[in-house]
Amino acid sequence: MSQKAERAVVCGAGGFIGGHLVKSLIGQGVDVIRAVDIKPLEEWYQVTDGVENLVLDLKEKESCMITADGATSVYQLAADMGGIGFIENNKALCMLSVLINTHMLMAAQAKGVERFFYASSACVYNGDKQNRPDAAALKEQDAYPALPEDGYGWEKLFSERMCRHFEEDFGLQCRVARFHNVYGPYGTWDGGREKAPAAMCRKVLEAKHSGKHEIEIWGDGHQTRSFMYIDDCVKGVRLIYESDVREPLNLGSSELVTINQLADIVEEIAGIKLRRKYNLSAPKGVNGRNSDNTLILEKLGWEPSIRLRDGMEKTYHWIEQDMLARVAR
Ligand code: NAD
Repeated sequence: MSQKAERAVVCGAGGFIGGHLVKSLIGQGVDVIRAVDIKPLEEWYQVTDGVENLVLDLKEKESCMITADGATSVYQLAADMGGIGFIENNKALCMLSVLINTHMLMAAQAKGVERFFYASSACVYNGDKQNRPDAAALKEQDAYPALPEDGYGWEKLFSERMCRHFEEDFGLQCRVARFHNVYGPYGTWDGGREKAPAAMCRKVLEAKHSGKHEIEIWGDGHQTRSFMYIDDCVKGVRLIYESDVREPLNLGSSELVTINQLADIVEEIAGIKLRRKYNLSAPKGVNGRNSDNTLILEKLGWEPSIRLRDGMEKTYHWIEQDMLARVAR
């Protein structure tokens, strides 16, 4: 597909990754004709001038038809989602995102879109392969036999398969990335939808500014994860979009840390040491999850490589600024 002719639409553009993706695509010379989100414009993390920014509910088919009109490519990132605290307590809401994916695929096909990018998740992976903190890194084949995260993960796995069948049966080219924990500036850091890296920054900042030198950690802190900085994420989206890889690919960092180590990093950036209170009854997700990057390296010759310490430094300072700006308002 020639880059000149591409007319792109980003769904979920008011959100964390979508907002960065619009800017990154434009930076690469892509004509982003439209950015869509259900949130009012003043709540978008980033609004880019020169793009038609629309507020639409993409669960509605008619909204999806408006969104796909005149586009050659669709980047579908819209979903009702959040960190583990949100997805464990809002399974029906998470599953309702199937309406967004169904109607966006139908609209893309009806409007003659050439290529459809779908943002899937590491939550599609079989839970039995993530029972231990030292579980082997997840390979793409580990999604089956299916035992994904209840609610959110099932919806993602179902929608992945819908992409596959729209390609097989209707010829709509689909590309699917399974994101592993993405973090960075211009994302959610409070309110219940935030994920571990942003939540950790917020907790450390609150402790520092309040003088109450204690933080709560969900679980025993030994659970393991990898975290991908946003710049790697948007780069990977574009590489996967442009590739000929028709199967879902992991898009995640393989730098594995425990949640305790994540807390160490944030404390070090903040220049503080805090008492840790472990909340063993809080939602904590699987015990161990990492991204096996063998396939993406083989297919694209690239993998996310921004060090966690470097990305967290930028994220921490952005959250601090945003927090202080909010207090000043
Ligand atoms: P986000 O919540 O910041 O962005 C998603 C956006 O979708 C939000 O702005 C939301 O308002 C919008 N949306 C929800 N329902 C909508 C609807 N009915 N119509 C239109 N817009 C709607 O989340 P994010 O972190 O930017 O995630 C983007 C995508 O990546 C999502 O599909 C998510 O499931 C996937 N993903 C993210 C991560 C991560 O770590 N951030 C990990 C795995 C997968």
